[in-house]
Amino acid sequence: MRLAVLRRHGILILIVLTLTTFATSARSAGPNDTITLQKILARLIGEEAVSQGAWNKLAYLTDRIGPRLSGSPGAAEAIVWATQEFHRDGFRPVTEKIMVPHWVRGEETAGIVSPAPRKLLVTALGMSVPTPPDGITADLVEAGSLDELKALGEKVRGKIVLFYRVMQRDREGDDYGPGANLRFRGASAAARLGAVGMLLRSLGTLSAHLPHTGTMGYEDGVEQIPAAALAAEDADLLHRLLASGDPVRVRLTLGCHLLPDAESANVMADLKGRTHPEEFVVIGGHLDSWDLGNGAIDDGAGVAVSMEALRLLKTLGLQPRRTIRAVLFMNEENGTRGGKGYAEAHRGELEKHVAAVESDSGAGPPIGFGVTAGPGSVERVASIAQALEPVGEAHFVKTGGGGTDIGPMKTAGVPLLSLRQDMTYYFDYHHTAADTLDKVDPRALADNAVAMAYMAYALADLDAPLPRIPEDQRQDGEK
Ligand code: ZN
Ligand code: ZN
Repeated sequence: MRLAVLRRHGILILIVLTLTTFATSARSAGPNDTITLQKILARLIGEEAVSQGAWNKLAYLTDRIGPRLSGSPGAAEAIVWATQEFHRDGFRPVTEKIMVPHWVRGEETAGIVSPAPRKLLVTALGMSVPTPPDGITADLVEAGSLDELKALGEKVRGKIVLFYRVMQRDREGDDYGPGANLRFRGASAAARLGAVGMLLRSLGTLSAHLPHTGTMGYEDGVEQIPAAALAAEDADLLHRLLASGDPVRVRLTLGCHLLPDAESANVMADLKGRTHPEEFVVIGGHLDSWDLGNGAIDDGAGVAVSMEALRLLKTLGLQPRRTIRAVLFMNEENGTRGGKGYAEAHRGELEKHVAAVESDSGAGPPIGFGVTAGPGSVERVASIAQALEPVGEAHFVKTGGGGTDIGPMKTAGVPLLSLRQDMTYYFDYHHTAADTLDKVDPRALADNAVAMAYMAYALADLDAPLPRIPEDQRQDGEK
């Protein structure tokens, strides 16, 4: 397969080089014209096909370091590794200290007490409080949404609420948002009505007896009740038992707890700009992951792609007008302290941030870029992306882009982009023990690194930067 990839890329490079040599002799090539960009793309594709640099980075991060939840030894090790790796690639990385929540998972068990006793596969939602050591036992009540929960009123008191919503598979991952809202807000909504615990059908699209974790939060002034996600099959079983009309009694034991905030860091490195080194294009993903798996698709891929994009450009001697900065954000999963910390520490420079691009939707083939910026930006990015036709579907551009980590830059009007991946299978393994390197296709990962490097270069080399997000659209929608 590697050989086939090389051959395909090799032929492509030959064709592109032949065409561009012919074309450039006929007209002068400015730094950011189509012909120059096509040449640059061909070189990026060729270098990544030979080096497999993104894959090697991701393999180390996942196989050798593994889980990287904020505050954990794995997260600390990842910071050291990223720093060393940037050095090996010829950069002078900087770590910027931030304090992060330090939540740890403990024992987690659940079971049906009646009418059909058996074990249930469960995992605590991130930031949940524990149960008492011997667990809680209560009757179950089901709701499909926060509105349905509200309608249950007094029936919720003293019960464990089962949020039962089946997530739909979708290439763009659009069904995740409503589920994540339920996951984040469900416990407090249930506690307001007197519930003693919350269970959620995992936000996932594969029934493979895998519970999916993910973050949740508590409203101020509302009792904090334990919250966990059930494997799809077990949630389905409870749903059927409840439908029969019998009372369903379950027990839940969670040992998770929150320790004092821990010291951590974002890691970043710059490829200095040729003529405007004080202006920046930020590219990045998040270095932390959940603790259950190895964080390959979420978001080791985004980290590897961003680091490799910077290395590709440096190795090929491609230095755009402005500085490209790769930022590996810490704590996207349960606090966004890295994203907020970066925007805070660089508040005075955000006027000079001409764009930020985040990759945090997995390791599937690239399906383009999303753009949130001023009028005309989508068209301009689309014309840059046209040349990406050989790289999956990376040339498609749509309105609406960004990411959790770069979101805090929105208030300063920084144009926000996302490198988008095909998410058809992303939520099969997202936030589970099965988020491991084998879920990543090396070719798709290489394509993402190339697409990121190309877009970063082109944005950093524009004559005039993209128009900034208009003043009246700058409210930060991130939590
Ligand atoms: Zn992520
Ligand atoms: Zn995540």
